[in-house]
Amino acid sequence: TLAKQKKQFARAYDVGMDESYMRRLQILKALPEAVSQNKLQLHFQPKLDCQQGNVIGAEALVRWRHDELGVVRPDEFIPLAEQTGEINRITRWVCAAALDQLQLWHEQGHGLMMAINLSALDLQWDELGDYLTTLLRERGLPPDKVTLEVTESAVMADPEQAIERLGQLRAAGMRISIDDYGTGYSSLAQLKRLPVDELKLDRSFITELSDNMADQTIVRSTLALAQEMKLATVAEGVEDDAAWQVLRSLGCQTMQGFYFSRPLAATEFDKWLQSYKAPQ
Ligand code: C2E
Ligand code: MG
Ligand code: MG
Ligand code: MG
Repeated sequence: TLAKQKKQFARAYDVGMDESYMRRLQILKALPEAVSQNKLQLHFQPKLDCQQGNVIGAEALVRWRHDELGVVRPDEFIPLAEQTGEINRITRWVCAAALDQLQLWHEQGHGLMMAINLSALDLQWDELGDYLTTLLRERGLPPDKVTLEVTESAVMADPEQAIERLGQLRAAGMRISIDDYGTGYSSLAQLKRLPVDELKLDRSFITELSDNMADQTIVRSTLALAQEMKLATVAEGVEDDAAWQVLRSLGCQTMQGFYFSRPLAATEFDKWLQSYKAPQ
């Protein structure tokens, strides 16, 4: 029966491999056309200030509507796009689309900010700062309304490169945030050298914040560190009122999460924004 079990396992494993392998192939094959065929879409998740619960902006999160696979999440296709080099085209599309939306909001009188995610490979692109500066100028947008989110692990993949590129972006007036902070391996010595404005606490520390004492300890000390280093703080993954109240009492500045809203297409975001009232 052990032999039989092994055989069954091998078969299940093969099938599983086949499926995910085929899926990867399908994604890789369609990826070059995702931008040109207009298959990418941005969703926007509101960002709020922790004290009052007022909306201060949004994070742009990319989605891909694949003809056969349906909506493919960025966690799945961004790593593949990095492997094929397609990421550069995707990043340019994301930046332009996010700033188009920000321009609309500003024209409507909402002085919101926009957070845009960058991948590790984007930091190797010499023209990134010029590209963004041109987009901002064309739309008449102030650079300090843009926050660029780079994951801690992307920065640590090549800290020297990251320091140079993030320094350029910051010199151009944009804000830099370290995404998924606490999940990577940056030392305090490295953090001190980085040209950054904000730490974004990873949601793994936030979702159970109200009843997990270890998470509270981590969040409290990270907020103290950020304050000491004059960095802004944002928490992602706020899923209930209790987590918000802990963040508020610990002095976190801004937040986002399903408790307030999931990421929404632009029209849904606008509807949500119109009906939203900060809880008292
Ligand atoms: P991220 O930047 O850390 O974004 C947060 C992710 O957490 C998003 O998933 C969001 O939908 C999800 N999230 C937000 N609030 C909650 C919550 O309360 N609970 C839970 N469980 N999840 C929450 P999403 O949109 O699937 O994005 C996944 C990752 O893909 C992002 O993580 C980011 O690293 C990457 N990504 C997204 N858009 C882009 C993009 O335009 N360019 C690049 N390079 N990467 C992107
Ligand atoms: Mg992010
Ligand atoms: Mg994050
Ligand atoms: Mg993340």
